[in-house]
Amino acid sequence: MYDVIVVGARCAGSPLAMLLARQGHRVLVVDRSTFPSDTISTHFIQQAGLSRLKSWGLLDRLIATGVPPIRRMNFAYTGIELSGFADPIDGLTEVYAPRRTVLDAILVDGAREAGAEVIEGFAVEELIHDDNGRVTGVRGKVVGEEQQKEFRSRFVVGADGRNSTVAELVKADFYDVVPAACFVYYSYFSGIEWEFHHQTDFNHQQIGAWPTHDGQMLCAVMRRKDRFREFRANAEENFHAIYDEIVPELGQDLRDNGKRDEQLRPMLYPDNYRRRSNGPGWALVGDAGYHKDPFTGLGITDALKYTEVLADKLHQGLAGERPIDDAVAEYVAHRDEDSRGSYALTTSISELELTPFFDSVFRATSRSEHFKSRFFTMLGGGIHGDEFFAPDQLEKLYDEVDFPADKRLLSPS
Ligand SMILES: Cc1cc2nc3c(=O)[nH]c(=O)nc-3n(C[C@H](O)[C@H](O)[C@H](O)COP(=O)(O)OP(=O)(O)OC[C@H]3O[C@@H](n4cnc5c(N)ncnc54)[C@H](O)[C@@H]3O)c2cc1C
Repeated sequence: MYDVIVVGARCAGSPLAMLLARQGHRVLVVDRSTFPSDTISTHFIQQAGLSRLKSWGLLDRLIATGVPPIRRMNFAYTGIELSGFADPIDGLTEVYAPRRTVLDAILVDGAREAGAEVIEGFAVEELIHDDNGRVTGVRGKVVGEEQQKEFRSRFVVGADGRNSTVAELVKADFYDVVPAACFVYYSYFSGIEWEFHHQTDFNHQQIGAWPTHDGQMLCAVMRRKDRFREFRANAEENFHAIYDEIVPELGQDLRDNGKRDEQLRPMLYPDNYRRRSNGPGWALVGDAGYHKDPFTGLGITDALKYTEVLADKLHQGLAGERPIDDAVAEYVAHRDEDSRGSYALTTSISELELTPFFDSVFRATSRSEHFKSRFFTMLGGGIHGDEFFAPDQLEKLYDEVDFPADKRLLSPS
């Protein structure tokens, strides 16, 4: 009998298992993947996520893998240029975009070293319930085998991503759903050395590029979904054409010197959502319970951040300090409240078109070095969005850059 079974062992699952095991709880974490392995994700991590790795003693291990530092961001949106970097956040003056093969393996090792039992290549198919309907374990199979196995626990957590089996089995409803705007194509290129770029033009298309392991650049293009068919008909050429259009000098360098080392990976983004994330004996964490467009690069960071909150709440329940389901309900309330602003920002700007409010704020921000740093500090998690977008702060911003009175918008509506 385990205290907690965690389904899924990547950004949300392995840290949860590690943190609980470090508190002395008996934890099993299973994943149908084996590690190291890749997954569809472009893996830029904000300071708030890196700071969790730091506090868990895993950041030095990640840096030792040779992941290149990013110390400047070139962010542009429909002609508004915002280049710069965040103020130090938890002492962090650089960020990283590690390959998921590397990051996820470090997280799985962390769980194992903390004393959690890890079973790789095991797919959960069913949940076990007691007579009161409380979840008390899982059934599943080692991938490729016929025989089902079952494991019992006091609590089960689905950290099993967007297509969460646990969420399906408990029939967790979706809420706050916002249809996804875009599709992405991305791959890894050698032969080019660029800074971080994240640029959106007036034609609802975007490029994202950042350095990662092995001297490679991750290069991505994003476009509205209604252009997917047309794009797919000649993906390679269209990929290059978007770089040519948005940043011609990068487009030329990519054509002349870039060598694509892996296949182009396409994805029609799934809709943005939250999902009911707690119930009797179960919880959801990471993308299983809350997913949004990768535009703001918050998926991994939020998975790391909120899994720590869940670990604390589960510990309170397992240690008998309070009823476990009540404690876990607080994790969900905290996640939804804390991420309210960043979810609204993400779902708005990932439309690849700025609302009048964001247009005014970004345009004014681009004229102030101080507010540019604050903008990146907000994205990195150093200050809350509510603080950055607070009307008194926006007044200060507009005054500092002498922004036209008729363009000074102080709230989204
Ligand atoms: C194209 C794309 C680009 C992205 N770019 C970024 C970015 O730059 N920065 C960022 O922060 N985020 C990014 N994200 C988001 C990020 O990938 C996710 O937020 C993050 O992976 C969530 O972690 P997770 O642990 O919740 O889920 P996942 O990483 O999806 O892991 C879930 C795990 O559960 C396992 N699993 C699923 N079902 C079962 C089952 N039945 N039994 C056993 N195991 C199971 C899977 O094998 C998987 O290993 C991107 C996402 C996409 C799609």
